[in-house]
Amino acid sequence: GGFQCMGLSGPVLRGILRKGYKLPTPIQRKTIPVILEGKDVVAMARTGSGKTASFLVPLFEKLQSHSSRTGIRALIIAPTRELALQTLKFTKELGKFTGLRAAVVLGGDSMEGQFAALHENPDIVIATPGRLVHVSYEMNLKFQNVQFVVFDEADQLFELGFAEQLDDILKRLPEVRQMVLFSATLPKMLVEFAKAGLFEPVLIRL
Ligand code: AMP
Repeated sequence: GGFQCMGLSGPVLRGILRKGYKLPTPIQRKTIPVILEGKDVVAMARTGSGKTASFLVPLFEKLQSHSSRTGIRALIIAPTRELALQTLKFTKELGKFTGLRAAVVLGGDSMEGQFAALHENPDIVIATPGRLVHVSYEMNLKFQNVQFVVFDEADQLFELGFAEQLDDILKRLPEVRQMVLFSATLPKMLVEFAKAGLFEPVLIRL
């Protein structure tokens, strides 16, 4: 069972090939098919497990197959600037042949630069929660076209005190959307959040 057996499109397979991946990692093997099916997922995975491609690969497939170009269609929420920037780099490399465009919204960057990036109409926004909430209110940015949301290192999001911002984002998402949550641990707050925001999530652990 390689990446070729997952029913992926040419552009996504080419990205995987370019990254030099021969076989999916265990977490990729378990999560990619379930996310492709459209299910909400809680995946317990650490950095180094290949978790980033676990959500990027199905995300690319979903966005490519409904290419409407109507504003932000996917949000990736990360706890830190470093993780968000690393995920942007990853998105550009792995998604090179998909034609999808990504932007970052990060605490510490200039607001002007972020307004400009968002005016470019990116398909994917990778953001830290505080700044995303701030910028979205400043720009009167709506999340009505968001179809797919990833909470990466979700335990860290709560650890760093972003609960209020996460609730704010959750409230403003369309009713119909797919959400996936990646976390090394599952503290009580996170379980509550998943109950509130995810629909019958599939729990995946290694
Ligand atoms: P991550 O857990 O997403 O931070 O990924 C850890 C490292 O594993 C990164 O350098 C990835 O490029 C690499 N990686 C991810 N998936 C695979 C794969 N299927 N085969 C080989 N390396 C991979």
